[in-house]
Amino acid sequence: PLALLNDPTLLKTDALIAGEWIAGASRFDVNDPATGRKLVDVANLTRTDAAHAIAAANKALAAWRGKTGKERSIVLRKWFDLLIANTEDLGRLMTAEQGKPFAEAKGEVAYGASFIEWFAEEAKRVNGEVLPQFDNNRRLLVMKQPIGVCAAITPWNFPLAMITRKVAPALAAGCTVVIKPAELTPLTALAAAELAVRAGIPAGVLNVLTADSQNSIAIGKELCESDVVRHLSFTGSTEVGRILMSQCAPTVKKLSLELGGNAPFLVFDDADVDSAVEGAIASKYRNAGQTCVCANRLYVQEGIYDAFVEKFAAKVRALKVGNGFEDGVTQGPLIEDAAIDKVQRHVADAIAKGGKVLAGGHRMQGQFFEPTVIAEATPDMLCAREETFGPFAPVFRFKTEQDGIDAANNTEFGLASYFYTRDVGRIFRVAEALEYGMVGINAGVIATEHVPFGGVKQSGLGREGSHHGMDDYVEIKYLCLGDI
Ligand code: ADP
Repeated sequence: PLALLNDPTLLKTDALIAGEWIAGASRFDVNDPATGRKLVDVANLTRTDAAHAIAAANKALAAWRGKTGKERSIVLRKWFDLLIANTEDLGRLMTAEQGKPFAEAKGEVAYGASFIEWFAEEAKRVNGEVLPQFDNNRRLLVMKQPIGVCAAITPWNFPLAMITRKVAPALAAGCTVVIKPAELTPLTALAAAELAVRAGIPAGVLNVLTADSQNSIAIGKELCESDVVRHLSFTGSTEVGRILMSQCAPTVKKLSLELGGNAPFLVFDDADVDSAVEGAIASKYRNAGQTCVCANRLYVQEGIYDAFVEKFAAKVRALKVGNGFEDGVTQGPLIEDAAIDKVQRHVADAIAKGGKVLAGGHRMQGQFFEPTVIAEATPDMLCAREETFGPFAPVFRFKTEQDGIDAANNTEFGLASYFYTRDVGRIFRVAEALEYGMVGINAGVIATEHVPFGGVKQSGLGREGSHHGMDDYVEIKYLCLGDI
């Protein structure tokens, strides 16, 4: 698939430190999850390389933070334009290494780029404050300054957007960055970095460390333990988030964490069934169920249950599974064998505990799993507690509004939640009662660049996107002027 790039020079396989492309002492393979074949090998950097990247980011900091917000904005805007101009190639790299359908991959390029456009504008609006004085001899000011060198560790499910959502606000604020992209999807990250270089982002301002899973752990330690790195942003599993948080404790590093979810999707008796079915399909089966905001548990009120599951299962049976480059495919492969195993474990467990299979249920040839719906799900099933992260929708039955809310909140996670109802009173009652950072109401897809994305409870810390997305990348400084 990579032979078809319009611009073959976007296929970068070396890492980027201080403006230099680094081949690394060893290499690791990047594979196509749809075929299992090797695509290329990529630089496998080490902890020592990470230390060099941190030093490069530190060296570049003074000049970058010394530019005006508007100067940084102009460079970021150029980067945005180049990403959009190369949508086709970036989408191709993404589908090849990640598996999502090509149309969806191009959609992610637009989404990923939008964070750069947004934060390019925000770069001009890092405003301070003048506070009323407590005695007339003084003046009280508040200024915001870039936090310094930032690190970002990102996952494979959104190979571009999870990077830009962190890097764009950091660069806009005047910080420099060291990124460690997921080992399964480094090619999109490296192509984006090449476009950043072409846009004029100076050497050392943006550094990309590629590494296999073992070296990623060592690089993670260096990023966490470094006293130069003042902020770490991570998107990935809650388990790894906890490790990083503890590794950051000795240096009291500021953290942004976007961790696991276990999103509930409630359908109340008064919902519009067709709209709820459409929303459930969009929420559950995007990226073959591999997003942290994908509906993990569907709760449908008893009066509408049968009608909903019948229509929902019929739509799921019509989804087309295959290589993301094939026309009409909406469901690509899962990212790796371990992902398939988890879906299989959840499905087998649900069947063993009395679930009724209405669609799919089986592993397919290669790294594919049939889009699956299981009705009569119960709280003792694994899928009620754990994030499946795959194309399996368990549908639970509930009686009262309070039962639905209680079931939805019965988890340590709190990222996205969804519900469908036409009753305005219920909209406010349920939205206020759900212990989640985000609530979709009669909407199954809710993310965009100018809204605050993030979770409560063990789903993370901080918000990405929106004007709030700048907060983690600036420090507030209070100035008290006397003798006026
Ligand atoms: P996912 O569920 O997306 O696979 P992970 O949390 O395993 O989530 O991985 C997300 C990112 O975290 C990847 O870039 C991976 O290399 C990195 N990672 C995994 N384990 C560690 C670790 N112990 N220290 C630092 N980074 C890690």
